[in-house]
Amino acid sequence: MKVLKFGGTSVGTAENILQVKRIVESQTEDVVLVVSALGGVTDMLIKTSEQALAGDEIYLEQLNAIGEKHLEVIDQIIPEDKKELLTGKIRQLLNDLSNIYRGVYLIEELSQRTSNIIASYGERMSSYIVAMVLGDVPRLDARKFIKTNFSYGKNVVDFEQTDALIRKTLAETNGLVVVPGFIASNEKGETTTLGRGGSDYTAAIIAAAMQASVLEIWTDVDGFMTADPRVIKKAYPIAKLSYAEAMELSHFGAKVIYPPTIFPVLQKEIPIVIKNTMNADSPGTLISSEKVSGKDKAIKGISSINDTCLVTMQGIGMVGVIGINHRLFQALANANVSVFLVSQASSENSTTFAIKNEDAESADQAIRKEFAKEIARGDINNITIEKELATIAIVGENMKKTPGIAGKLFNTMGRNGVNVIACAQGASELNISFVIKLSSVRKALNVIHESFFLSENKELNLFLVGVGTVGSDFLKQLAKQQSELLTNSHLRITLVGAANSKKYILDRDGIEISQVPALLANSENQNTLENFKEAIIDMNLYNSVFVDCTASDGVAALYKDLLDNNIHVVTANKVAASSSFENYSELKEVARKRGVKFLFETNVGAGLPIISTINSLIKSGDKIQKLEAVLSGTLNFIFNTLSEKIPLSKAILMAKEAGYSEPDPRIDLSGIDVIRKVVILSRESGYSIEQSDVIMKPFIPAACFKGSLDDFWKEVATLDEQFEAERKVLESQGKRWKFVGTLDNGKASVELRKVDQGHPFYDLEGSNNIILLTTERYNEYPMMIRGYGAGA
Ligand code: ADP
Ligand code: ASP
Ligand code: MG
Repeated sequence: MKVLKFGGTSVGTAENILQVKRIVESQTEDVVLVVSALGGVTDMLIKTSEQALAGDEIYLEQLNAIGEKHLEVIDQIIPEDKKELLTGKIRQLLNDLSNIYRGVYLIEELSQRTSNIIASYGERMSSYIVAMVLGDVPRLDARKFIKTNFSYGKNVVDFEQTDALIRKTLAETNGLVVVPGFIASNEKGETTTLGRGGSDYTAAIIAAAMQASVLEIWTDVDGFMTADPRVIKKAYPIAKLSYAEAMELSHFGAKVIYPPTIFPVLQKEIPIVIKNTMNADSPGTLISSEKVSGKDKAIKGISSINDTCLVTMQGIGMVGVIGINHRLFQALANANVSVFLVSQASSENSTTFAIKNEDAESADQAIRKEFAKEIARGDINNITIEKELATIAIVGENMKKTPGIAGKLFNTMGRNGVNVIACAQGASELNISFVIKLSSVRKALNVIHESFFLSENKELNLFLVGVGTVGSDFLKQLAKQQSELLTNSHLRITLVGAANSKKYILDRDGIEISQVPALLANSENQNTLENFKEAIIDMNLYNSVFVDCTASDGVAALYKDLLDNNIHVVTANKVAASSSFENYSELKEVARKRGVKFLFETNVGAGLPIISTINSLIKSGDKIQKLEAVLSGTLNFIFNTLSEKIPLSKAILMAKEAGYSEPDPRIDLSGIDVIRKVVILSRESGYSIEQSDVIMKPFIPAACFKGSLDDFWKEVATLDEQFEAERKVLESQGKRWKFVGTLDNGKASVELRKVDQGHPFYDLEGSNNIILLTTERYNEYPMMIRGYGAGA
């Protein structure tokens, strides 16, 4: 014999009920079929009670909706000749229910007993419908054989009586029978319930009493998943679980199975299979006493409880005092407070435990009463209550055999900026539980899921600001490389945010790269930078990377907060790395502390590997003694382009149009751009210098830079003639202009130099950059890096 339980969604619609019929008809053994109320009906019944209790007539509408829901299903699937009979039965039940509600409404009083009776109607009605759909098969009233006693504020199943009654009742039937889940009765014959989700329990109780071959729980997901599929999209069904693992997971909020369900069948070693009614062919999850194999993953699943309140009782007077914890937990039990996590440091000066938020008040009172004397004496000096928290548990029998799980877990949390407030691991090593801020649950679940289940692929969530020349090209590159990176580097990069100077867009599910311009154009989010930053931090995604492709001071000013929130920063924008040394060092320090990256390789020499090379030399013990470089692609291009036909002003315009220059070419022409680069290289070489320390000989008169950009273009044209004259002289001497930045023994300078033929800089073409590094190791012949140094 088998017991099959179908949940609310499985019997929620006419179509699904027909699917149930198909599944039941394909069975070869006798079946006890346990049904829940039609999906959502228990909630509706409870809500209607509340409305009636509040004296709100709106309850009638709700009640009507409940009736309609059932009658509609009947209309759709019950054969004509049976419709009247069944409709009559349901109408009679609805009528009784309506009278009960009317009583509640008039008296404005709702006892536990009445609540139970009301809640029972969901399963009573659904079981009549399902029994009829299956061909008018026998329907048993669970209240006749599932018996409860009231103990510690709860209905507890009286197994001795119940088991006997089940066996007796079922002995009188054969073939298929339908039983309403969730409902029971007490010794006085009053209707009781087994708690929300309790139909699973009904099924388990029957399966155990009858020594069924299997208990099948049919629901709306493909089995017990690695995590709650509503939070973790990449969660997948777990093929096998031990009873202990399933128990831990369900107790910790994985809703797929009602926690008490496992116990009765575990004792009889009856396997549980979780299956999807809407996808009956998928194998589902098998929960059994089968030994967990050594090959299984150390962690089977993750679950979480959002409703967490942490209470800490602290006091020097607690140290070494025997019986404190006994009294504490006794007091909590007397106050009916259930504790689901306990943590006590070995110093014994504080005990922390987690309870539901709604129990906070009772817990506080109970402790203060129990320890009134100790509090008055100052032995206990602090009782703190923290809300807005969540508890996460990772579960797996193989954790016992695998060292390093806790290390990996907490390391992953730390790297993503999730602070662990309390934690507990039982000596059974089956479960590690820890408490974090409620706002971080989604992120924590995601990173844990990624690092323990999907280690195949590393996920990066990318935010881009600036979609001009560099930003757009970056997006193109990203679009082109995404699949390559996934296949060969197991790296999945998802663009989750983008901004231009006016607007921003965000989507945690990923933004289609080709849609970025259109989405930005249509976005309603104005970008004040500050709000974009806040929105990114609020999204609280794991492995977040912020990419700056602007040249903006405002964007550079966001880095510190981003890094502080464990968001990596990768920037083409030189402003931050060349700002005050104090700011530069602070950013590096914050990044180091938070374990995230602050990278700015493209600040100097565009795509040339200059900064990373210097970093590697220094890390391996070399010392940069001298550095000489042509670092402005724009200036090199301009001086290479000057000719009889192309005057200075025209060459500048060409550099701008080619995308080499900064958006404002004055930054290049004034030498500021090169100063910034020299500063960055000097700092990376180990010197703490400021921009003002760089000695600079201007080659364009300061007057040119005084006015607006328009003024600049006019002013600079007046220099054309003089530059052409000088150029001719230079040409006749066989020399060329190169704008050179130097760092020599910690002293930095930039100047327009006239270099002779034969000098390594002389032949530097177009917008190329060149850098000569003289180090302790590359001494006689400096290291040379040369190539395109500007543009996207
Ligand atoms: P039923 O109405 O069939 O009893 P429930 O709503 O009680 O179904 O349980 C199934 C739901 O549990 C799924 O739809 C899913 O959203 C949720 N759930 C939470 N955690 C998990 C998990 N780890 N695996 C599967 N489902 C889960
Ligand atoms: N109908 C009840 C509830 O919604 C029992 C169940 O579905 O398991 O809680
Ligand atoms: Mg359920």
